[in-house]
Amino acid sequence: MTISTSYDVVNPATEQVLTTVAMADTAETDLAVARAGRAFETWRQVSPADRGRLLRRFSEQVDGHLEELAQLEVGNAGHTIGNARWEAGNVRDVLNYFSAAPERLFGRQIPVAGGVDLTFHEPLGVVGVIVPWNFPMPIASWAIAPALAAGNTVVLKPAEYTPLTALRLAELALDAGLPEDVLIVLPGEGTVVGQRLVEHPDVRKIVFTGSTAVGKAVMAGCAAHVKRVTLELGGKSANVVFADADLEKAAATAPYAVFDNAGQDCCARSRILVQRSVFDRFMELLEPAVKGMRVEDPALDTSQMGPLISQRQWDRVSSYVPDGAPVAFRGDAPDGPGFWFPPTVLAPVDAADRAVTEEVFGPVVAVLTFEDEADAVRLANAGNYGLAGSIWTRDLGRALRVSRGIEAGNLSVNSHSSVRYATPFGGFKQSGLGRELGPDALHAFTDVKNVFLATEG
Ligand code: NAD
Repeated sequence: MTISTSYDVVNPATEQVLTTVAMADTAETDLAVARAGRAFETWRQVSPADRGRLLRRFSEQVDGHLEELAQLEVGNAGHTIGNARWEAGNVRDVLNYFSAAPERLFGRQIPVAGGVDLTFHEPLGVVGVIVPWNFPMPIASWAIAPALAAGNTVVLKPAEYTPLTALRLAELALDAGLPEDVLIVLPGEGTVVGQRLVEHPDVRKIVFTGSTAVGKAVMAGCAAHVKRVTLELGGKSANVVFADADLEKAAATAPYAVFDNAGQDCCARSRILVQRSVFDRFMELLEPAVKGMRVEDPALDTSQMGPLISQRQWDRVSSYVPDGAPVAFRGDAPDGPGFWFPPTVLAPVDAADRAVTEEVFGPVVAVLTFEDEADAVRLANAGNYGLAGSIWTRDLGRALRVSRGIEAGNLSVNSHSSVRYATPFGGFKQSGLGRELGPDALHAFTDVKNVFLATEG
């Protein structure tokens, strides 16, 4: 196996090389873990109020550089400028949210006989964070913020394609006053730096976001050390539209729920399930919404969808739309350089088609029909994924019944929301293990210690 020592970072909208980034090897990974291990000894001793204050300053640094971070992501990942600004804002908000956590990391006093019993939430040590290329900034912050708040130090490996915002965030952390080596960003290959973080005995936890296939290998690697692990993996989420729904709104919003970020979204609603009696009407409404999407230079304020991340991803996505595929209609995409793929709607499509059963991770959606509520839940639950989903109905009882019936971690009724920093995020089944964000995320970065103090002589 050849190990790359550097990586040419490419703008996916132009195919131009932006910069070259050095890639770490195994020895450098070990050094980074050792440095983070030393930093842990002092970081864990920083008073809760000061740890909170430093995270707040980090959040303020991000806020002061929102536009710069957003522009970096437009260039590096092809995200639309509107999305990239939201993503940088999300990093700021996540850091701010968890800055309140160090002073609220409460233990318990449990009544027992013969003494006093106390619990402490102790930090784990060095946390390895491995992130994908589809949302490089926010996903990094969802692990960094609670990990640091709980008193851990972090070694973060960005995805090969998209290291730039993570590297900038590490600089902003230092500018904010975080001690050296509390947050180390180490670009490198998954099978080199990523794998070493998984295998290194002094890395006490892995937060992995990426494909289910790699996630399973990461989980197996962690087992060797009984290493704590959080997994955020793939999805094949359903957008379920009942006949009694506001069809105009459901159809107008459906393209954004799957084509946002060019479909490279683990929460993409890439299966639209429509009650048979309203299928024709829904498709009539969906067509202009899809054709009206602005797929253009992501740096333009009007852009609603940019390119795919790479030629490799383009080839992968194309394989789901072979010649003769049941394409109902498509949107536009620019010609010329860049990994552009038009928004594509497949219907009617066989339930066994790969485009229905596999995560495409591109702007391709399959529309299927269902008969009744039970059929809708059965179809939504088909397959091994269970990350997100949407339910469109005016019947409140049905909305709740179907929400309880669908096996997924993040559901949204009459809307397509998945991520809020104050609410838990994560997958059922093979979409993941554990939860990020929200009030409980901190406990994924601590172990509980029970201490009994005898009070009787
Ligand atoms: P990927 O699994 O190929 O890579 C993810 C990360 O793991 C990268 O940093 C990669 O370098 C690293 N990696 C690769 N091999 C490794 C190994 N053997 N050991 C350790 N690390 C290794 O995924 P990707 O293509 O970058 O991202 C797309 C996938 O991520 C999709 O399946 C998507 O659904 C998923 N995703 C999930 C969420 C979520 O929160 N559930 C969010 C975003 C993306």
